[in-house]
Amino acid sequence: MTAKPGEQIITTHNYFTTDYKLIVEKLQAINPVNYANTRNFINGDITYLAPYISRGVISVKQVMDVILKKGYSFLEAEKLIQELAWREYYQRVWQEKKLSIWDDLKQTQSDVVHNKMLTALLNAQTNIEIIDQQIKNLYKIGYLHNHIRMYVAAIACNIGKAHWKTPSKWMYYHLFDGDIASNNCSWQWVAGAFSSKKYYCNQENINKYTHTNQVGTYLDNSYEAIVKMQVPDQLLGTTLLQLSTDLPITSLPIIDTSRPTLIYNSYNLDPTWRAKENVNRVLILEPSHFSAYPVSENVLNFILELCKNIPEIQIYSGEILAIKQLYNQSELLADDIIISKEHPAFEHYPGIKDPRDWIFPSVKGYYPSFFSFWKKCVDSTK
Ligand SMILES: Cc1cc2nc3c(=O)[nH]c(=O)nc-3n(C[C@H](O)[C@H](O)[C@H](O)COP(=O)(O)OP(=O)(O)OC[C@H]3O[C@@H](n4cnc5c(N)ncnc54)[C@H](O)[C@@H]3O)c2cc1C
Repeated sequence: MTAKPGEQIITTHNYFTTDYKLIVEKLQAINPVNYANTRNFINGDITYLAPYISRGVISVKQVMDVILKKGYSFLEAEKLIQELAWREYYQRVWQEKKLSIWDDLKQTQSDVVHNKMLTALLNAQTNIEIIDQQIKNLYKIGYLHNHIRMYVAAIACNIGKAHWKTPSKWMYYHLFDGDIASNNCSWQWVAGAFSSKKYYCNQENINKYTHTNQVGTYLDNSYEAIVKMQVPDQLLGTTLLQLSTDLPITSLPIIDTSRPTLIYNSYNLDPTWRAKENVNRVLILEPSHFSAYPVSENVLNFILELCKNIPEIQIYSGEILAIKQLYNQSELLADDIIISKEHPAFEHYPGIKDPRDWIFPSVKGYYPSFFSFWKKCVDSTK
């Protein structure tokens, strides 16, 4: 989808369809060449697929396969494939670092004044007009353009001097594509905790990529001046963030214990997964998971709508242990018959773990930089 400069593409909540057929149609519309040329602009020809990839409805591999099948060469599609690889890179970091993904990964974030949320960001009152408009949009539609995410994180951590962790939780809470790996690592990248230096933006750069012309703001200055600036008055207020998720009240699912149970969750809503098998299918919403990683009501509704693509799925708000216990009296062992997809957030699940689809399955482990990882990825295709 392209728009004229200044035109806002996403205006309604309905932009992110939850109908699987329409989601797959979106794949066909990708133009990797236009993507590469315009992706940094707010109205660039980007894919808007992250909400489906993060929720495990489609995989990065599926996206790449469609592009290459349409006849684009690797070279033409390289920029987009590289962005898909960024997601894989962050997933590999999470697999390796596990809960330490919540710690500063490379170096301690410097010049931190507090660990709270900036009230100005929370209330969309930073006085940078496009940022405030986009935060209001985030609350409505659960999405922010990548460049806006970078600006917001830079305002929070590098101009407002907050530690990255609290504001990252706020953004994750509202994103339809909320993913701990991409979110934590990206916030750390901007804040200089998972990169060699902090990322700064100024008003000129914001105006260029958002087609706006605001002047006279605290960001309307040279980079040299911004790096040395005190926290501006507009960003001094802080708020203690309290986030929680109200899960639906459900009863225990009805499980035929002579059959396996496939476990779905907020990161695995793939309607094609073992689709032909005669199994129980349960979307499990664990209170322990959502208490560690809360999401907004909007995000939860998005997840619940996406799960409707999976026939005969039952929704259960409760811990995985309860499903395991349902097999206590059965002839089959839960460890042989509960099946999920491998994922760092759900290592505690019992049973069989199917692998996820990777573009570069052989490139595993921790790489200190994306480009060392990317080099291995490219080499692995030769
Ligand atoms: C502060 C911050 C927080 C972020 N939080 C998240 C998050 O919680 N979940 C999430 O999925 N992404 C996150 N990102 C990465 C990126 O902004 C989004 O993936 C992207 O904007 C989603 O929109 P799209 O699908 O239209 O992307 P496109 O530009 O169309 O990209 C296609 C796909 O490539 C991948 N991709 C693109 N850019 C990146 C990137 N910088 N890092 C990792 N993968 C990328 C995504 O899977 C995306 O769907 C964050 C980035 C920043 C700077």
